[in-house]
Amino acid sequence: MTHPSKRKIKIKEQERDNYGRFAKKLRVADNWGDDDDSGWDDEVDMLNEKDKYELVWSDNTHLERKKRGPYLAGKTKKSTYFDKYGPSGCFTKAAKGTAKITIFINKHRSTPDDFEEVLDDMEDEEQAKLDLNERIEILKIELKKQQNSLSVTEYNKKRAIFEYLRRLSDNDGKGKVKATLPDQKRELTEFERGEIIGLWKKGHSERNIGEILGHPKSTIHDTITRYKNSGQITASSRSGRPLKLTERNVRQLVRTLKEDRQQSLEEMTKKFSESLSISVSSNTIKRTLHSEGFFGRAGKRKPFVSEANRKKRLEWCRERRDWDDEWNFIIWSDESRFMIFQNDAHHWVWRKPHEKYDVDCLIPTVKSGNQGVMVWGCFAKDKIGPLIQVSGSINASVYMGILENTFLPFYNSLENNSQYIFQDDNAPVHRARTVKQWKEDNSIIDFPWPAQSPDLNPIEHLWDVLERRVREHKPHPKNIEELMVILEEEWNKIEPEILTNLVESTYYDSHERPDVVKYQELFLDKIYDYVKFMAKYEGENMEQIPPTLGPNDKEIILVTHDECVFYSNDGKQGVWAKSGELPLRKKGNDRSIMVSEFLSEECGRLKLNAQQIQENPSIPKEARAYLQPGKDREGFWTSEHLIDQVKTKTIPIFETLFPNCIALFAFDNSSNHAAFKSDALVASRMNLKPGGKQPKMRNTIFGPSNQHQSMVNENGEPKGIKQVLIERGLWKNGLNADCQLCKDKVDDENRVDCCARWIISLQPDFLGQKSASEEVILEAGHKCIFYPKFHCELNYIERYWGAAKRYTRENCNYSWSGLQHTVPAALESVNTITIRKFARKAWRYMDLYRKGVTGKLAEYAAKKYKSHRCIPDYVLAELNK
Ligand SMILES: [Zn+2]
Repeated sequence: MTHPSKRKIKIKEQERDNYGRFAKKLRVADNWGDDDDSGWDDEVDMLNEKDKYELVWSDNTHLERKKRGPYLAGKTKKSTYFDKYGPSGCFTKAAKGTAKITIFINKHRSTPDDFEEVLDDMEDEEQAKLDLNERIEILKIELKKQQNSLSVTEYNKKRAIFEYLRRLSDNDGKGKVKATLPDQKRELTEFERGEIIGLWKKGHSERNIGEILGHPKSTIHDTITRYKNSGQITASSRSGRPLKLTERNVRQLVRTLKEDRQQSLEEMTKKFSESLSISVSSNTIKRTLHSEGFFGRAGKRKPFVSEANRKKRLEWCRERRDWDDEWNFIIWSDESRFMIFQNDAHHWVWRKPHEKYDVDCLIPTVKSGNQGVMVWGCFAKDKIGPLIQVSGSINASVYMGILENTFLPFYNSLENNSQYIFQDDNAPVHRARTVKQWKEDNSIIDFPWPAQSPDLNPIEHLWDVLERRVREHKPHPKNIEELMVILEEEWNKIEPEILTNLVESTYYDSHERPDVVKYQELFLDKIYDYVKFMAKYEGENMEQIPPTLGPNDKEIILVTHDECVFYSNDGKQGVWAKSGELPLRKKGNDRSIMVSEFLSEECGRLKLNAQQIQENPSIPKEARAYLQPGKDREGFWTSEHLIDQVKTKTIPIFETLFPNCIALFAFDNSSNHAAFKSDALVASRMNLKPGGKQPKMRNTIFGPSNQHQSMVNENGEPKGIKQVLIERGLWKNGLNADCQLCKDKVDDENRVDCCARWIISLQPDFLGQKSASEEVILEAGHKCIFYPKFHCELNYIERYWGAAKRYTRENCNYSWSGLQHTVPAALESVNTITIRKFARKAWRYMDLYRKGVTGKLAEYAAKKYKSHRCIPDYVLAELNK
């Protein structure tokens, strides 16, 4: 028996183009192999790759996609446990750091975390759109000119591209008609192939079948040919992994990989070949790893949402952007596991979400036999649904039983229940064919759900609420049975307000919350009070126009602050991961530099020049502060660090640079910046009763006649909330220290006297308590302002970080030493003119908001009138039309 030569195998593997010639690989596979993660990549990449494919048109492509289920369109089923929470639930934490996707739903844009990315996105989109229209024009001209000189095939190809782009450009780039790639992208199901053969047997032509079923002609042809030749409708199975490696080898390979997930394919091949003393090609290694479910993918700082799924989520959110009442008619559902965790004196109830699908995630510290309780629950916006225990593992028939016996009665109990749609996530069990059929039979409409998006499900927060309440429940549950009883009891006690609040906080625009709007107005009023004392920067070179000052006026200079972290593994290095899994990088390699910086339009970065350094030897050279965050490094950046920076660096440098000027320091609304001095009036630090661990607070005044009040009693102990309220005539019998609504952070303007802590926190002296950093700044004779929440477009330093990160991406090798060199250079690479331009953009936003232009319109105007610091009146009139 002869073996085919290596070369022949190679030829077989090589792809061919439509003319039978060897085709170049479509994507250059880098060291990390192909990312087979998602079918959605294909769509995204289509524009770039279009000229490598021949386009085939079919008018019902979009229907096909729907049929296949939009979220399972890739080769890999998407929504596994790993997708959501990583191997040990670590992504729940990671998810906390990522921007809430709701920013895309919100009519006003926001997000502190991913601002830079969002900006990039928007700019790219604009760019792409421009390119698109340009391309269409060019193609159109070319087609006209060349129609007589091109071959028919060439012409058709070009024409197809033109048509594709043209349709894509309709409807703002969301063209309804989609092109599919030829069948290489998708295999038919057995049923679909059966349909083809069925029609063919009835005497339909291939062309005819194509028209009826909407498959590409080549697919039809192949299916029929295969049937003719083999009598089978099953696709010939794709060639699997060549059996070059034994099973033992494979296990060893996986072990090698797990030792260091960041090694490159070459490293791994080398290590592996050496250890076995056989020669294995990197292709074999790659193929083997793929068949074991490992794919190389770019390591990400924020692993939670893959790029493709981010786009997907974005689209999902955009489609629901204008939803309002619609959110009231969704039934949210999910499973969760609760456990009792025993710890000497304490019993903890402890929830690990979604480990149901992964045995590896059971925590070994949990005593055997304590597997906890798996529950399933659902709710609508103003009505709690049932919660039941699920025993054993969940499979399709168990899930269907839940739907039939638990969900359906609840559904039927809802008024106008036909208006409701049902949400469950994309866990394979939820999407089983039998489950789909059940839903169809019972007219339950599914809510399409984006992958990797537990954060969009308000029930996630409901689990948290439930967990908190069960933990506080006394007596503590001692066993699983008791736990289940308490779970049910606490679940049924959950107030409708909490449910409404959960849905609203997930899906409604937090900018529209009255307190946020009010604060924004206050902020704008305040900052525009100062504007007349500030210099302006205008024109091509952003030249300074000094303010017109009265004899006693001082110039005010806005100094904006923020912190940003640069990571040593922000780079392109990859990690090996199971499909759908994006592990965090190993901690040891995850070194980073945090920068805390101050900028002003007047001078860019706050720093002294050579001469000033010589003349002021006691003043630091620059205001910037660095920190290497980490438990084993320099700890974490706290409010004390910031206060120290302001005190010892920022203020002295500012006063050296601009004697006789007043600084207006602007901070983000983060908790660090709002930290209070230890004797500050802070309701959350107080106890109801006197003494104990509560801090001694400073003296204060209250009431219309500014009555003095000491916060300490005759014994020198802190008075506690009750005594303070009694003295103010605000105490009422039966007041609790806290109420449940306050504990669950339910915001409600109308609630004023629910509990003692809430009452004291609404007192003017407590409300007016200034943060520690603000107190330091005021003591030095300067001013302080905090940006409104969710409005990072107003802090121009965000754009500065964006520019510095871009520079870092392009110039840093992301080794630790490389990062140390690059970060300062990256920051210095942004010049003062650019900083002034960033500031101009922020001023433009403020001006628009002040004039009542908000949301998308403001975004549009801020982009369109790039050279304006203020929006001219005639433009405003036009916008408001
Ligand atoms: Zn309360």
